[in-house]
This record gives sequence, structure tokens and C-alpha cells, in this order.
Amino acid sequence: MKIRIPCSSILLFSLLFLFCKQSPAQELTPLVKQFVSVNADTLALIHVNIVDGKGGPAKTDQTLVIIKGQITMMGNSGQLTVPATAKIIECNGKTLIPGMVMMHEHLFYGERVAPYYLGLAMPFSFPRLYLAGGVTTMRTGGTVEAQTDLNVKKWIAEGKMVGPDIDVTAPYVERESLPIPEMMFIKNTDEATKGVNYWMSMGCTSFKAYMNITKEDLKEVVSIAHKNKMKVTGHLCSITYREAAEIGIDNLEHGFMVSTDFVSDKKENVCTSGTQSLMKLDVKSEAMKDLMRFLISKNVSVTSTLPVFEPYSSREIFPGGGDSAVVAPVKETVEKVYNSFVGKDSASAALFKKEMAWEKQFVDMGGRLMAGVDPTGAGRVIPGYADQHSLELLVEAGFSFSQAVKVCSLNAAEYLGRDKEIGSIEIGKRADLVLINGDPLKDIKAVRNTETVFKNGIGFDSKKLFESVKGKVGLY
Ligand SMILES: [Zn+2]
Repeated sequence: MKIRIPCSSILLFSLLFLFCKQSPAQELTPLVKQFVSVNADTLALIHVNIVDGKGGPAKTDQTLVIIKGQITMMGNSGQLTVPATAKIIECNGKTLIPGMVMMHEHLFYGERVAPYYLGLAMPFSFPRLYLAGGVTTMRTGGTVEAQTDLNVKKWIAEGKMVGPDIDVTAPYVERESLPIPEMMFIKNTDEATKGVNYWMSMGCTSFKAYMNITKEDLKEVVSIAHKNKMKVTGHLCSITYREAAEIGIDNLEHGFMVSTDFVSDKKENVCTSGTQSLMKLDVKSEAMKDLMRFLISKNVSVTSTLPVFEPYSSREIFPGGGDSAVVAPVKETVEKVYNSFVGKDSASAALFKKEMAWEKQFVDMGGRLMAGVDPTGAGRVIPGYADQHSLELLVEAGFSFSQAVKVCSLNAAEYLGRDKEIGSIEIGKRADLVLINGDPLKDIKAVRNTETVFKNGIGFDSKKLFESVKGKVGLY
């Protein structure tokens, strides 16, 4: 969707931008300050390797100057005169990537307690974990407690809580079917209208259509959102990707894994799992290429959520780590489920590989791919750890490290309409940065060695953030 902004708004926006740049540094409460490891008006990161988020090759031995939270100078070390007042950080052997902009995050954790599936709010641990893992901006991909997410967003913005900036998605637009007691169900299209308008008035800025809705529901949601210059994504089932693109949806979640476009006897507006049809589909399928071409022509972005689909065999129980973050009884349950699937998941492992190839193909064809971790499923996906791991999985899928970083930063910033401000390491942009100890281009596992996460030029101690929520996931 293209958004047209009248000239007067551009002027107003520029004035606001100037005002923001000149306003004094944000006041942080002691609770937030305890995690701050770097806070200086003028800062210079020297001898650092930069992967700037635009997809091009890495630049070695760079110097980056940050003044009042903004990147003001960047260039080869030795050719750049660092301001005398700058606090110098020696970054030899370290790599800098943009703060990650992740698109399928949640402030709740999924727990299966048969016959239900619970979405338990994690307003304490999750924002810390996301920031620790390098996420400086996130979009929630649906919610079961929008009011919690809105408060967390506000408190983070006010410096009262630690975490990324949040684009809050309204409660899922969904009709009753799944056994999720926290979910807000609509009974008809009229309730979809009411819900979207209400949550928009409360401060939600994104919308997500879910698995059991009608095309009429989706049309209504898209129409209201677009009138208000907001966007709609979907984890669909009852509606095919092609139908949703025709209606005008902006984004589709879970790569191509939840497409029901290839179900031969698909009934209109009825959810039937597409998994079997995707397993049968050839990785080089022309029909899939056709669908991708159509999505690209309709400017539909796709969100990769590889961590939540990660197979069991020869994989970590908690992809990217994070075992120690989970409270003991929940960890035991997750491990039990994991063990019951090991060695028996060859079909889903094969589909996972196919999904990786499809995501790469979509990008090669010109599609916009973004990424998210989705801490639901079998409870194996832990925010922060899994966000770092997303980079590993995208590289496993065949992307270069620079491309993987772009999927996790600039592509999403562009989608959110915030690429003038965030998403890449460029002069004039906000100093949202992840300082990694090591070189992920040589060893991708180095992405797990996040040292400092800069948000608005303020450096947060990644390890300390991770430490602070050990054993808390599953509790709060
Ligand atoms: Zn989700």
C-alpha cells in the first residue's frame, strides 16, 4: 500500500523531527538505568566492522560517531576526525549491525494445557529479552491482551521500562473455533468493525487477521485500516493468500507455511490445513512461483517465522538457546514434548527446508521478506535468543549475512514507513545498533555474542538483561 502524505504534513513532520532532535535526552528511571552500560552525549565506536542493513558487503575497520542518539559521522577509521569530547569505544574484532526490527513478536507466551492453548502475558520478561537479543523495534503479530501491550509500549517510551519500541497490533480478528480462552472472538463482520475502530482509538497501530474469518470480515478490516493509513497482516487459513492479496492485505505471516492456496477441495471461507498440500508441492512448483508473482504485484510483504517451525531432530530444544530463561516446570513440559518428536519429524523437517527455499526464491523474485520469531507453538521459541537465531536460520536458508540482516531490519522499517529514521546504519538515522563480539560473516554463531544494544544511542548491557529474567519465562 502506498501512503500519500500531503505537503503540509511533510512540513509538520520535518518540524517535529527537528524538535525531537533538539529535545534533551530522555529521563531514565533507576530501573532502566541499571541496564545501561553506555550513555554519553557524543560517542565514537572505532575499528568496528559494519553490516549496515542495506544488504551490501560489510565494511571493515570503520568509525561511527553518535551525537545525542543520532548517527552523525561514519567512515574508514583513520580518515575520520572524532570529536574531542567523544567517549571512545574500541571495537576491534567486533561487528555492528542495525537494531533489529522484528515483525512477528508477542508479549505473551504460548502454553499448551490440553485441551486448551493458553496465551500468557509476559510483560516483565519478554520486553527485556527482546532488547537483550538486539531487537530495538518490534511489531506484535496479534495479541490476547492489547491493553497490556499498550501499557508496556507507553512505559518503554517514557523510560520507565526496558524494551524495544513497539508497534502494537490489536487483538486478532478471529471467529470462535480455536480453544484459546484469552482470544477475543467476533461473531459477525459488524463486530470486526467495532473491534478495529475501538482498538484504533485506544492506540493500536496494526491489525492482524487470523485463521477463521470470512472474506467480508477481512475486506472490512482492510478498508478501515487503510482509511486510517494503517496496515493489516494475516495468519490465514479460511482465506487463501491469493484471495487476501486481492482484498488488499499488506502482509502475510509465517512465510508460505500456512498458505491454503494449494488445497484442492478448499471451500470458500472455511479453514482446512494446507500442510499436506504443501508437503506434496514440488519445491520448484510453477504454481507457487505464480502465487509469489501475484503477491509481489500486489505489494504484499511476507514475514518469515522460521524459529517457530524449527524441526525437532538434530536441533536445539530451545532454538538459539534460552533454556535457562524458562521456569522449571514449563521447561520440563517443553522438553517432554520435544523428546516425543525427535526422530519422528522427517516430514516436517523436509517441509521446513522447502519453506527456506521458498523464502529465498520470494526475495530473489523481488518480494519483500521480513522476519519474526513467534514465541508460541510448542513453547520452544524464547524471545531475544530466537531473534538472534533468526539470522542463523536465514543464513541456513541461503541468504548472505548482509541479506539476512536486511530482512531483520531495513525491510521491516520500510514496511512500517519508518525507514527514514531506523532500519539501517546511515548518517542521520537513529543510533539503534547491535554490537556483536565477533565476526558473524566468518562464524554465524557469533550473532549470539551480543554485547551492547544501542537504542537511541543509549547502550544496554545484553548479558545483564538476559540474566535479569532467568527462570522467568512462563511466569510473567
Ligand atoms: Zn504469532
